[in-house]
Amino acid sequence: MRFGFASAGWAGRIPAVSDGADNLYDTARQVLDTERRLGGVFLPAGQTLPGESAGNEAGPGDAQDKAAALATLEADAKQCTRCGLCRGRNNVVFGEGDPDADLVFIGEAPGQEEDRQGRPFVGRAGELLTKMIQAMGLTREDVYIANVLKCRPPNNRTPGADEISACWDHLVAQLAVIRPKVIVTMGNPATKTMLDTSTGITRLRGRWQSLPMIGEGLGGTAVMPTFHPAYVLRQYTADVRGKVWSDLQQVMDALGLPRT
Ligand code: SF4
Repeated sequence: MRFGFASAGWAGRIPAVSDGADNLYDTARQVLDTERRLGGVFLPAGQTLPGESAGNEAGPGDAQDKAAALATLEADAKQCTRCGLCRGRNNVVFGEGDPDADLVFIGEAPGQEEDRQGRPFVGRAGELLTKMIQAMGLTREDVYIANVLKCRPPNNRTPGADEISACWDHLVAQLAVIRPKVIVTMGNPATKTMLDTSTGITRLRGRWQSLPMIGEGLGGTAVMPTFHPAYVLRQYTADVRGKVWSDLQQVMDALGLPRT
């Protein structure tokens, strides 16, 4: 989906976030009000994004082509034996969402539930990510969600450099098809890998970054690093939740999504 800048169709679509996320929603509103008072908008709606060009737009036919291209890449990934993680996996978790998405979320690697279902972010952290996306006025189907690694590391250990290197081409090819306007990297491993940096997420989050030239048409794509939903669940404080919501609000502004 290509978002229309400040399209009226998005108005009023921020859902009532329920259950354990009530506090997150309250905090989000507080942060929103604070930002309004301070005028803290990084990229005003409608401003050109880094890496954005007229060639980045796609019509319905292009979207079908992208879906077909991603299906081919996924079929290839499902046969992949480039690293040892292929031996312990139940499923390759390629990614899912709108093949023509303006916004892509990238995490580290599949966990146990993701490996079982073959879908990204479907465990507890995934539930929180879904609520975060909904709070932006979107659905999971409006965006694309993927991980740096397509197979689960044993016991959810941190991926090895050799595994990230082996899997890298899958992700680059995936992004080269989608060509999003904004990428949200979640957590340290995904952020450091995508930005090719040793700087940690605590220093990078909330500050727009530019994607290195990792593949055709991808150099300069706007990147917003933020905390991983699993970290938010572990550090469920108003401060952490407010920072994540602030990061997502910057993404909303950049994509022309209304704050309502
Ligand atoms: S993690 Fe990536 S490189 Fe390793 S086997 Fe899975 S798909 Fe292939």
